[in-house]
Formats: sequence, C-alpha cells, structure tokens
Amino acid sequence: MPSLPDTLCHLNGQTLPLCDAKVSVLDRGFLFGDGIYEAMPVYGRRLFRFDEHMDRLERNLAKVRIANPHRREAWLALARELIAAHPAEDQMVYIEITRGVAPREHVMVEGLTPTVFVMTNALKPPSADQRHHGVACVTARDFRWERADIKCTSLLGNVMARQLSADHGAVETILLRDGWLTEGSSSNVWVVHEGALLGPPKSEHLLEGIRMDLLAELCEDCGIAYNLRPLSETDVLAADELLLSSASKEVLPVTRLDGEPVGHGALRGKPGPVYGRLYEAYQRAKREQCM
Ligand code: PMP
Repeated sequence: MPSLPDTLCHLNGQTLPLCDAKVSVLDRGFLFGDGIYEAMPVYGRRLFRFDEHMDRLERNLAKVRIANPHRREAWLALARELIAAHPAEDQMVYIEITRGVAPREHVMVEGLTPTVFVMTNALKPPSADQRHHGVACVTARDFRWERADIKCTSLLGNVMARQLSADHGAVETILLRDGWLTEGSSSNVWVVHEGALLGPPKSEHLLEGIRMDLLAELCEDCGIAYNLRPLSETDVLAADELLLSSASKEVLPVTRLDGEPVGHGALRGKPGPVYGRLYEAYQRAKREQCM
C-alpha cells in the first residue's frame, strides 16, 4: 500500500496531517458517495480559475441540495493556508463536501452538518514524452448514470471506465453513449476537424469541465473556430486531431485510439498544429490568470 502523505489538510474546522484525518463510518460520503468535490490547479502557489471552480462547486451543491458550508473568501483562505504549507510550487487543491453523518437511510436527511475536507497535493502534469508524442486511449460504452454533470464523489462508474484503459496501458477511456461522444473517465474530449475544435454540447451526460469555457477563450485568442455539437463515434474515429482536457492534463494530444494512429497524412499518429497552439495559449493563461 502506498504510504499516506503527512502534508496538512483541513477537516471540519481543524488543520491536521493528512495521514491523521478521519471521518465517521456513518458519513454519507462513505456510505453513499453522497458528496460533491472540486479539484483546482495551483501554479507557483497561485490558484488557476478559482472563481470558475467555485461557481461550479456552488452549482453542484445546489443540484444535490447540500448547503455551501463556507463563503468564497473562506474557501480561498483555507486553500491558501494549505498551499502555503505544502512543499510543492504547483499543486492540486481538492475540496470535498459530503451531506454529513447520520444513521444510514437513503432519504436526504435534513439539518445535517456537512463534512468539509480540503487537501492539496503536488500537481503531476503530463510528461514531456506525453506532450511530444501524445498518449494512447481506448473507447468504451458510457455505462455510467445519466447525471454525469454532477461532480459527485460517487465515482465507481468513472473508476471502472478508467480501468479499461489502464488494463490496455492507455491513459484514458473515451466514452460513447449510444454512439455519441460524451467525455473521458476524468477529462473532456475534443475532436479537431478541418482546423476547428469541436466538443460535445454541455448536457447531463458529461461534466462541464472548467477547461470547456477556457478552451473557448483560448480558441478565440488564437483564431481557432470552436463549436459544441453532437459528435458521433465516426467523428471521433475520423478526427484530424483528438485532445483531452482536464485540470491535471491541461490539453493533451491523443495519438493512438484503440491501438490505431489518430489523424491523417504526415501527422498520422503525431500531435497536430491545433494542439500545439492551444498548448502554448494554455501556458500563457497559466501565467496571466492565477490568483
Ligand atoms: N470530465 C470528468 C468526468 C472529470 O472528472 C473531469 C476532471 N475533473 C473533467 C471532465 C474535466 O474537468 P476540468 O477541466 O474541470 O478538470
């Protein structure tokens, strides 16, 4: 078993080493996965797109009727305290809020005190090899529930989906629901077609990644057409370029899908020009948009 880090975390008003933090076995997060989470990147000890992450946290808490236990300034102060105490410059702050502790029954018991947990870990960005050569992915049927828009801690479907690619030595599983692209097990998926960046529309079948609107902005800056529309399995298989986006992957080129090279002509199996421009734009955004 990997050893547990002794970096500081926050649990229900206390700051303590991560390896010592404990929650009740009757916590609804433990029993039902009844909780909401956020993961936000930190560069040079400064938070990237903090307000966008907080907006999403608030939207998701409202969807499952958990009251936000803190005001935004309090979340910021908590995150900054842990960021300052962590040895790494680049980190990933993780926030989890569960409905709280109660005798086990499915109904949403009212009046519980939500469990609040915040930790930060060193950020593991994609390796230079992954950026320069791209990564392998596999496709699979999206067998998850129909509320993939909720960033909840019930992630067994995503865990099982991710393992399908891990079993093939690939970095992500690209999910198709009834033959239509939804997302990856923990990332959004993008098709480049004739120079345009295409993604599936926002819906209850995929998580609205913070990078969706960010990529729209970066495309605008770079003069790349950006369009959200339903994308079929054929669109995915015929892509000129295929990209993943997430807080930890940033933007990452997929160069092998189900064992076949992605793309056409001289760029077949290689990262393409739209990826290259978006990667550079993303690095600029990191330098300019942290707080
Ligand atoms: N979809 C899923 C299922 C995810 O877990 C993630 C990463 N949290 C994303 C998409 C990408 O979201 P973001 O850009 O906010 O990291």
